[in-house]
Amino acid sequence: MTNNWGSSAMRSALSQDLTGCLFSFILPLLPTAEEYAIKEQTRLLLERIIVRVSPGARLTAFGSMANGFALRNSDMDLQCILDPASEPLSSAELTTIVGDLIRHETNFLVKPLPKARIPIIKLTLSPTPSLPYGIACDIGFGGQLALENTRLLLGYASVDPPRLRTLVLFIKVWSKRRKINSAYRGTLSSYGFTLLVIFFLTHVKQPPVLPNLQRIPPIRPVSPESASYDGRNIYFFDDVALLRQEWSSANTQSVGELLWEFFRFYAKDFNYTHDVISIRTQGGILSKDAKGWVQDLEVDGASEFARDRNRLSIEDPFDTSYNVARTVTADGLYTIRGEFMRASRMLQTVGKVDTLPSQVLVD
Ligand code: ATP
Ligand code: MG
Repeated sequence: MTNNWGSSAMRSALSQDLTGCLFSFILPLLPTAEEYAIKEQTRLLLERIIVRVSPGARLTAFGSMANGFALRNSDMDLQCILDPASEPLSSAELTTIVGDLIRHETNFLVKPLPKARIPIIKLTLSPTPSLPYGIACDIGFGGQLALENTRLLLGYASVDPPRLRTLVLFIKVWSKRRKINSAYRGTLSSYGFTLLVIFFLTHVKQPPVLPNLQRIPPIRPVSPESASYDGRNIYFFDDVALLRQEWSSANTQSVGELLWEFFRFYAKDFNYTHDVISIRTQGGILSKDAKGWVQDLEVDGASEFARDRNRLSIEDPFDTSYNVARTVTADGLYTIRGEFMRASRMLQTVGKVDTLPSQVLVD
């Protein structure tokens, strides 16, 4: 039987079914308590090694293990916070020295990248019977804003977990299976896809599913030091307990319906040519002209390689001069838009709803 979502009664019934299927689909993909425990032990082990080189340093988790959007076997993003009182070494020097020590003292495969914009050490642990997927871990030296945007995403995840978390987790699985989730290969990071979902729920949906956390005024005075980092405004309303009590969206759409509309919006309605997604602003959209993000070619003199950095434009919520989607090439965007169209088409006319989440993913 083929279902057509055209009629609104049918659409509502189907979206309820789809919502249930999405919850069941996501549940077994969440990390287990055991996985969290192994990752925490790993973090502590690495921190003990780093402290020997840089006394007082701490390793803090960010990205999906800390923002509420982790899937089973996600990579671990760790940030090294140095004690300013005791640090005579540069980030690049530390990357090399700590990398050598980890290589010497653990089974990790170690790749230090001291010359990266933010120096990092990439670590991988091969699979074993007790760790069937191994561990992939990046340790960053510098880049405090990553901790702040992790807290912002966690704030959003806490406001409406059933809808935002389910949508983001499904979009992450979908984008990885459809091979459009790789900043290194010209497509978009999970962080970028998460911002697409937050923009959709905060600014496209009326009434909005989420409030704009960067525009809710503080209830207590905020000191200038805590509201800014490196000249960037990092304020957002982060009283999660109060938010959960106070925020109640007038939007009652189900996850299934929102997923369908999400795909349709990015397949048909979003203006890729002119618009910049800016979740921090009222309305959520700026123009590429206003940002000066038009024909911003990144040219590599040696290879005469040039690419348009702003084909897809997603302003970072705090580092507003930074396009989170700058890695997306012309081909990458073509593929991503093709995938939005494919998913939207599949949700429009489908066979059995209970197998739909997996149908949207298959090769
Ligand atoms: P996954 O589970 O796929 O690893 P994730 O939620 O950890 O997903 P990543 O894309 O790995 O998301 O990003 C982890 C963190 O790194 C983000 O929370 C963000 O702080 C930072 N980050 C990643 N990509 C970018 C980017 N293009 N620009 C700025 N910061 C980024
Ligand atoms: Mg990650």
